[in-house]
Formats: sequence, structure tokens, C-alpha cells
Amino acid sequence: MAHSCSLLPLPFILVLALIPFSCIPSAQSATDDGSSVHESLLQCLQNNTTPQEQISKLLYPQTSASYASVLRAYIRNARFNTSSTPKPAVIITPTKASHVQATVICAKKVGYQLKTRSGGHDYDGLSYISDQPFLILDMFNLKSVQVDIKDESAWVEAGATLGEVYYNIWQRSKVHGFPAGVCPTVGVGGHLSGGGYGNMLRKYGLSVDNVVDAQIVDVNGKLLDRKSMGEDLFWAIRGGGGGSFAVIISYKIKLVPVPETVTVFRVERFVEEDGTDVAYKWQLVAPKTSNDLFMRMLLQPVTSKATKKKTVRVSVLALYLGNADSLVALLGKEFPEMGLKKENCMEMSWIQSVLWWANFDNGTSPDALLDRNPDSADFLKRKSDYVQNPISKDGLQWIWQKLIEVGKPGLVFNAYGGRMDEIPASDTPFPHRAGNLYKMQYSVSWDEPGAEAEKNYLNQIRRLYSYMTPFVSKNPRSAFLNYRDVDIGVMEPGKDSYEQGRVYGSKYFNANFDRLVKVKTAVDPENFFRNEQSIPTLPNGKAGMTSHTRCSRYTRAIVKTPVPHPFPPTNPVYEPLQPHEEGVPPAGDGKAYEAKL
Ligand SMILES: Cc1cc2nc3c(=O)[nH]c(=O)nc-3n(C[C@H](O)[C@H](O)[C@H](O)COP(=O)(O)OP(=O)(O)OC[C@H]3O[C@@H](n4cnc5c(N)ncnc54)[C@H](O)[C@@H]3O)c2cc1C
Repeated sequence: MAHSCSLLPLPFILVLALIPFSCIPSAQSATDDGSSVHESLLQCLQNNTTPQEQISKLLYPQTSASYASVLRAYIRNARFNTSSTPKPAVIITPTKASHVQATVICAKKVGYQLKTRSGGHDYDGLSYISDQPFLILDMFNLKSVQVDIKDESAWVEAGATLGEVYYNIWQRSKVHGFPAGVCPTVGVGGHLSGGGYGNMLRKYGLSVDNVVDAQIVDVNGKLLDRKSMGEDLFWAIRGGGGGSFAVIISYKIKLVPVPETVTVFRVERFVEEDGTDVAYKWQLVAPKTSNDLFMRMLLQPVTSKATKKKTVRVSVLALYLGNADSLVALLGKEFPEMGLKKENCMEMSWIQSVLWWANFDNGTSPDALLDRNPDSADFLKRKSDYVQNPISKDGLQWIWQKLIEVGKPGLVFNAYGGRMDEIPASDTPFPHRAGNLYKMQYSVSWDEPGAEAEKNYLNQIRRLYSYMTPFVSKNPRSAFLNYRDVDIGVMEPGKDSYEQGRVYGSKYFNANFDRLVKVKTAVDPENFFRNEQSIPTLPNGKAGMTSHTRCSRYTRAIVKTPVPHPFPPTNPVYEPLQPHEEGVPPAGDGKAYEAKL
């Protein structure tokens, strides 16, 4: 089995020159290769670093022979790797915090937007694209992981990957781990500043629930730690999105204990078998069972090998912090419908379970976690929802029909509960705690390049999202920041940025949005740290996004959240895009996913 972080593994593909975007940054003409800003930036950086630094070697202007490969190395969504995708004028690749400090000062001076990229896994590419003239601050060189086993903690730099974090912990201890995402190439900078969850969240909460200190560079170019930044800003950068507040240099994380032996399993059913019963019961058991057990459920439209008919496959994947005997006994009692047997289970060390969850072959060396796998990406789109009440069996059966009808997108249910229920919703900006049974991810990946394919699959996933309205959280319909989704709203330049920010901000942060706005207004009143979904400043503050833009590529993608409707709806509830926006195919003709069974 090849390693892949995707729900539906696809061959890695890189495609250029395929998707036409109509927006060209207005402050940089199509023929301008960014030479002038490069010169001004270099001059400023030289003035703000010591002469022996040779800072010019850390800059990649568009004229550099290495520009394209540096830019592409951390593009993790092939949709944003085309010749017409907006490109930065210069990529700055700091090797120390002082370079970041100088970059913040100089980006302000040259008047370009600064996008910070760590692992480049932002699902909608916000760390490396923009409609405005922009620079990328690429953190991949800042990747040290300093583990202190005596203190059961580690300082991890923003450019380190989760795989590197896990590997370094494992090198020093076989009974410590860290609760974070399952994909080893995800970067610390975006993952932790956006919350960070993984398969130990029911035992230990999110990554940010285990962050005890941080180093950042603020809007004035100052290097700050927890004490000097203050508790409000420290609160904000643990789930509020780093891109709104500062550049994260590093986090200090608290390690957590893991047993020497853990157990994993994957059990699959089709809905013609007892898949519906299993899926229904999963909702009752997975969020309530022992905190040592995390069960993820995948719901995928597939073509059955046996019947050649389209159907839905229900798969349950689990990590249990204990041995197989006790797991089989636990689920025999709580979840007999799944019929888990010891032969379905694999006992292993925690680090092997990290590899298993990342789809590596059994027996793969942990060294594989150090592979950054550059220059590889699928075309993909993700969306998210939260579910607070179990979906009935009738509801599930209706969803199976919709999955088959829509075509390719699948659903991933991630159980909450346990430690997540105990942490107050206001402890960190991430608000989705008690009351949520599970988080749902909508997932579609494809390998056909081109605008038509993109339009088709985006349409499919948006239709599915619309169909799910009756089953998910309302007022607001919540979403997970780390599953970036520009469909739920974007900030446009101008005086309405606060109101626009509230639309997506209340979905990502619920009641914590107001506190984030206050922190933002206090620490970055000019809105220097901004992106299409950043935290806005207060409307009576000085800032709004300063406009250099003719149009936004994101406005074309916005789908209005439909008004909640009764289940089952009598008509498709998918709302087509605005008339002035690019058209989408009519609802109802999704292509079937030919499963790689
Ligand atoms: C294949 C895949 C698997 C995933 N699995 C999980 C998972 O299991 N759990 C989970 O919670 N999430 C998961 N995610 C989502 C992931 O956590 C987020 O996309 C996260 O933001 C990625 O961090 P990054 O540094 O790789 O991304 P980037 O694209 O570099 O950054 C994402 C955002 O954070 C900002 N940012 C990045 N670095 C810094 C910094 N140093 N300072 C300030 N702001 C910064 C960027 O500007 C951008 O807004 C997954 C994503 C992918 C593509």
C-alpha cells in the first residue's frame, strides 16, 4: 500500500497551465516579473539584517531559476498549481527568526501582502495564492524539533512537519506521543495555529490543548514569547489561525503518554449488508465510548465488484490506546453490530500506528516520516460540518442515495466526545466542544486536470453539502478552520470586511469570534496579517482590507448556505452560483466513482 494522506488515494499529478483565472493583480502588470519589488525588498532586508548574512541567497524572485521549484515544493493542492494561478513576486526563505522579523518590516515597507506558508496544506491554497501583489514567507527551513523528555515537552518550529515531530519524539521515547493530525507532511505552523486534531483527540483534546508556549514575530517585527505577547494573543494563536495575527516561529508542546502497545483496525461493510446498522450504531458508540478509543467512519460511493452496482461502503478505522483483547471485549459489549474479532486487529507501537494511519505499508521504517514528498499533489476540495444529533437509519439510507446520485465525493465522520467534552468552548478559539457528536469532512479528490473537471467535482461536493443541511449544526452551520473552505464566505476589500468576516468567522469560531476580533484589532489594527478568511478588525477601527484588487477569484465560488429544510427535501436544495458568476453544471448528473476495490 502506498503512502497517501487522501481519503481516496490517487496518483500524484502535477499539471500546469490548465485553469484560467481572470484576475491579475493590479499593482503588478502581467509583464512585470517583480524585479523592482525584489530590489526594494533586498535593499530593505540588507538594512535590517547584519551585513554578513548574505540575505540575497534566501530570496527567490520570479527571475530566479529555482523560483518555480521552490514555489511548487509546498503546493499540496494541484488546483493551485497552474500557469495562471497568481504567483508571489518574491519567495523569502528565512533560516532564523531575525530574518522573519526583517521580512515583516520590509513587506510593510514595500506595500506587498505577506502570505506565510509552513507545510502548504491549506485546502484552498490561502498560504500561497492571492489576488493582491504578494510575497510568500516560506518557513520550510525553520524545522527544528527539540524534545526534552525530562520535561515531557518539545519546542517545534513552524516549518517542521507533523511526521518530523512524531519521529523526533519516538527517537527519544517509546511511551510519549503528541495529539495532532494523521498526515505526516502537514506543517506545524498552519496545523497548530488552526487547532489541529488527530486520532488521540478523545483522550487528549486538540494539539492546541497541549501547547504551553510559543515564539512569534508580531506586526512590528518584534520577537515575542507567551509572557511578552500576553494571554490574549497567546489564546488567539491556538486555533484562531496564525495568518491573522503574527508569524509563528515555534510552539512549545506538552508531550502525552502513550502505551507501549496500541491497537488499530479497519472494518468494512456495504450498505446492502448491515452497513446502515453499523453506521447508525457508530454514531451512538464512537462519541461515548472509552476515551482510549478513536473511531473514524468513512462513507464512500463505490461500484461493488460483486454486483457491479453503485453502492456505499462503510469503513470504520480505529486507534485504541491499549491491547487487542481489551478492545475486542469493549466493542463486543458496546458495538456488537460491528462484530469485531481479534483477527481484525493489529497490535503495534504508537509510531507504527502513525505510519498505519498514514497508509504506509506495514513494517515501513519510521524514517519514512521524514520524507516531505515534495512536488506531489492531487486536485482536491474539502468542506466540513458538525453533527449534534444522531442521524436516523432512514436519514442514513437517504444519504446513501444522495452519495450515489452525486457521484464521487465521500464523507468522513470523526468522533468527538471524551476529553473534547470536558474542555470549555472558550478555552481556545476552537469552539466545537461539548454537544458535538462528530465532525464531518466532505472529501473529493480527482486526477483529471482542467477547468471542466474542477467545475464538475466542485459542483458535486457543494450539492452533497447542501443535501446534508437537515442533519448538521445550525445557526451557525459550524465549520472547522483547518478544513479551509472559501465557499462559506470570504473577506472582500472595503468597508464591509467586518460583516463579511463575521459570516465565515462565526462558523469557524462561534461565540469566540468576537474575542478574536478584539485581539486582532488590538495587535494588528492596520490589518497587515490578512488573507481571504482572516479575522477582521472592528469596523470602527482603522482597518479594512486595503484594496489593490480588481476582482476576487473567490467570489465566483461562493455557494449560499441554503435555508434549512425538512428531511427528506422534496426538491434538490443545491443553490446554483450567482448569475454573474461562472456557471456550474446542472444538478443531478454526477459521475459514478469507479472504486479502486
Ligand atoms: C492531506 C491533508 C491532511 C490533513 N489532515 C489533517 C488532520 O488530520 N487534522 C487536522 O486538524 N487538519 C488536517 N489537515 C488540515 C491542515 O491541518 C491545515 O490545512 C493546516 O492549516 C495545514 O498547515 P500547513 O502549515 O501545512 O499549511 P499552510 O498552507 O502552510 O498554512 C495554512 C494556514 O496557516 C497559515 N500559516 C502557516 N504557517 C504559519 C506561520 N508560521 N505563522 C502564521 N500563520 C501560518 C497560512 O498563512 C495559512 O493561512 C490536513 C490537510 C491536508 C492537505
